Amino acid sequence: MPDVTIVGGGPAGAFTARLLASSGRDVTLLEEHHNAGEPVHCAGVISPSLLETYGVRPKLLGTVTSADVVLPDGSAIHTSKRMPYALIIDRMDFDQKLVDRAVTAGTTVKYGVHYKAHDISDKGVTVDTNVGQFRSDILVGADGQNSVIAASLGNNQVKYYLRGIQVDLKYRSEEEEKMILRLGNDIAPGFFSWQLPLGDTTRFGLAVAAQYGTPKQYLDRLLDNLGLAGKERLKTYTGKIPMGGRRTTYSDRLLLIGDAAGQIKPVSGGGLYPISLAAPALKEAVDRAFSTRTFNGTVLSTYERSWRRAMGKSLSRGNWLREYYDRLDDDALNEFGHLFSRPDIVEVLNDIDIDDPGTVIKPILRKKGVKSAVLKAYLRARK
Ligand SMILES: Cc1cc2nc3c(=O)[nH]c(=O)nc-3n(C[C@H](O)[C@H](O)[C@H](O)COP(=O)(O)OP(=O)(O)OC[C@H]3O[C@@H](n4cnc5c(N)ncnc54)[C@H](O)[C@@H]3O)c2cc1C
Repeated sequence: MPDVTIVGGGPAGAFTARLLASSGRDVTLLEEHHNAGEPVHCAGVISPSLLETYGVRPKLLGTVTSADVVLPDGSAIHTSKRMPYALIIDRMDFDQKLVDRAVTAGTTVKYGVHYKAHDISDKGVTVDTNVGQFRSDILVGADGQNSVIAASLGNNQVKYYLRGIQVDLKYRSEEEEKMILRLGNDIAPGFFSWQLPLGDTTRFGLAVAAQYGTPKQYLDRLLDNLGLAGKERLKTYTGKIPMGGRRTTYSDRLLLIGDAAGQIKPVSGGGLYPISLAAPALKEAVDRAFSTRTFNGTVLSTYERSWRRAMGKSLSRGNWLREYYDRLDDDALNEFGHLFSRPDIVEVLNDIDIDDPGTVIKPILRKKGVKSAVLKAYLRARK
C-alpha cells in the first residue's frame, strides 16, 4: 500500500509530492484534469526568491521593477526598485514543471482521476474515485479553493470568497516593467485591480467580495474608463480566492494544504508563498507519523502548529492590514495615498517584500504624522 495519496495536482499537491517522494515516501498524486495547470486561475505574480524556492523555471511572461498605486481620485503613489519586485510567470507551465519534478522524485501521477469521497479506518485511508479505489496510510487534500476534502471535516468552510477575473488584452502597456494597482469602491470594492505588462499584451484583473456583484461588471467598467474596451480579449480567466482561513487543516490520517487549507496571504490573495512554507511543515509531520507508525490527529496536529508558526506573523500583519483596508472609504484611501506619496514613505515602500507586504507597517508607522492619520481614519470609519 502506498504511504500517501495526494488529491490535486496544483502547486500545493505537486510541491508536497516532491518533498515527500524525495525523502523516500511512496506517493500517488491524483488530478482530475488530463494535464497539470488547467484551467489557469492566477495572475502568475511571484517573487524571484519564491520562484527559487520552488526550484523550477517556468516561461517568464514579464518582470516588474516599478509599481503605481492609483487612488480613487486618480493620483498615484509611484514606487520602484533596482531589483525586480516580482516576476510574472506562465502559471500553466509552472504547474506542469512542478508535477514533472514530483515525478522525477518518484511520485506516481494519475491524471483524469476525480476524487469522490474517502473513508478513514484504523487500517488506512480509502479514496473513492471515478476509476476505482486508492488506499494509503495518509491522505493529503490539495484539491483547491472548493476543497471537498476540507469540507468533509465539518464546519470547515472559509470565511468568505473573493471572486476574481482577468483578461489578457492585445495592448502593449506604456511602461514595460510597471505594474499598476488601482484602488477604490468603483474599481474593486474590498480589494484592488491589477495591470500587468506582458510585452505585446497586458493582463488586467481584479477581485471583489461576493456581496458587491460580479467581478465582470467592474472589469468591463475599468476597461471602458481606460479607453480599452475595444481591444481584443485574447484570454479570460476567472477564479475564487478563499479568505479568512479554515477551522482546521488536519484530522486522523488527513492533512490539508494550499487553497484547500485556506492558506492565503490576506492582503494580496496570493497562495504560492504560503504553500512554500506549509509543504515542508507537512513533510515533517508525515515523517513523524511514519517514524512512530501513528497516524492520528494528535501526531498530525504538529503540522498545523508548525505552518501557523512559519506564517504566523505574516498572517497576523496581513489580517490587520486587510481589516483596516476594508474599513476605508474612497476619501480615506485618497488621504492615505497622498500621505504615502511622501518621499520618506515611498522610500520604505520601495523595499516592500511582496511575499510579506505587512513588514512595511512598522517602519511606516514610525514616520512623522502617520500614526495619528491612521488613528483618525480608523475612528472615522467606526462611526
Ligand atoms: C484571479 C486569481 C489570481 C491569482 N493570482 C495569484 C498570483 O498572482 N500569485 C499567487 O501567489 N497566487 C495567486 N492566486 C492564488 C493561487 O492561484 C492559488 O492560491 C493557488 O493556485 C493554490 O494552489 P493549490 O494547489 O492549493 O490549488 P489549485 O491550484 O487550485 O490546484 C488544485 C488542484 O486540485 C484539482 N482537483 C480539485 N478537485 C479535485 C478532485 N475532486 N479530484 C481530483 N483533483 C481535483 C484541480 O483540478 C487542481 O489541479 C490567484 C487566484 C485567483 C483566483
